[in-house]
Amino acid sequence: KLIKEETLRRILFNQVQELKGNIRVMCRVRPVFDTAEGDSAKLKYPDTDKESKELEILGKEEKSSLGNVTRKTHSFTFDRVFGPESQNQEVFEEISQLVQSALDGYNVCIFCYGQTGSGKTHTMSSADGMIPRATHQIYETATNLKEKGWTYTMEGSFVEVYNEEIHDLLGNSKDFDKKKHEIRHDDQKKQTTVTGLKTVTLDSADTVEIILKQAANNRSVAATKSNERSSRSHSVFILKLVGRNSTTNETSEGTLNLVDLAGSERLKSSGAEGERMKETQNINKSLSCLGDVIGALGQGKEGAHIPYRNSKLTYLLQYSLGGNSKTLMFVMASPLEAHLQETLTSLKFATKVHNTHIGTAKKQKQVRNEA
Ligand code: ADP
Ligand code: MG
Repeated sequence: KLIKEETLRRILFNQVQELKGNIRVMCRVRPVFDTAEGDSAKLKYPDTDKESKELEILGKEEKSSLGNVTRKTHSFTFDRVFGPESQNQEVFEEISQLVQSALDGYNVCIFCYGQTGSGKTHTMSSADGMIPRATHQIYETATNLKEKGWTYTMEGSFVEVYNEEIHDLLGNSKDFDKKKHEIRHDDQKKQTTVTGLKTVTLDSADTVEIILKQAANNRSVAATKSNERSSRSHSVFILKLVGRNSTTNETSEGTLNLVDLAGSERLKSSGAEGERMKETQNINKSLSCLGDVIGALGQGKEGAHIPYRNSKLTYLLQYSLGGNSKTLMFVMASPLEAHLQETLTSLKFATKVHNTHIGTAKKQKQVRNEA
């Protein structure tokens, strides 16, 4: 009976999640650290204790034809907006159920999108961020599910996508830059592997600290060559969760992907040369491709062509985007006036993604009603 109740609870929970839509977008505004950072933009974000969905930003001063100075109000709506006082703990609470669904056999992708310095790494990959929090929670839940007959194998890997090449953040730091890794898809099983990648078995709650340390080590090797490399590459933490219930013989296979994207700032190709130019083009290409893929998925047309192959990142995540997988994008916003233009560009990109999600949520509801 216990097992049945548990299974039912999980099915119900996942149905509620599906009704909310499989693509969700949340915004987080980072705080101003000190006055030397410059003037704050005119932002109107929610009180910390309210679960707000709205964000308003006053645009740059403009002179109207009558000579009046006006400021345009830009309004945005997302699934949730976190103000500058929000803590990682609070942000995690909002996604903890989504993280959990990877144990129920779903493929989950969580992205942090935004310009350099807007708080992506703080939110995703810091010692207090979503990667360690999610890993700890999954480890604990899997341990508790043992009582109900479930055993899970949990394997983590961590890669960097830089200049359309994959590097192993957990690999030997000596050949971090040299070793080639290729993406292989098993289209029948809908599974992805990356050749020659080191995977770490999550066999204690502390494994994630070791993973983060090794990744930081490899990053620092790369940083001696290019200072800004970490903001010019995407990092993807991949946790594969394969479960089997010895009592009911149920099986489950899910993947959690946590992605810290390259800085979204519009880099001018004109001034850049050589390596810089190539980096710039690759970042612009992969971020716009991500938007295109999510957009195409949002259209929900049966058999439609989804341009996964147009970038390494979307190709890597092909089986975790679309289908019955779940996607969440955090768009990070800077509170500074000097960043206003970039912030608006980010929020507009995120709005496009959010609108496709509204499309899919409606469609799912419709399907449900028709059924
Ligand atoms: P990004 O990865 O987008 O380039 P970071 O996460 O590195 O940006 O953030 C830039 C700096 O601001 C870092 O020192 C980071 O610790 C800090 N920071 C970012 N967001 C917050 C926040 N919400 N609260 C406190 N500090 C933050
Ligand atoms: Mg960063």
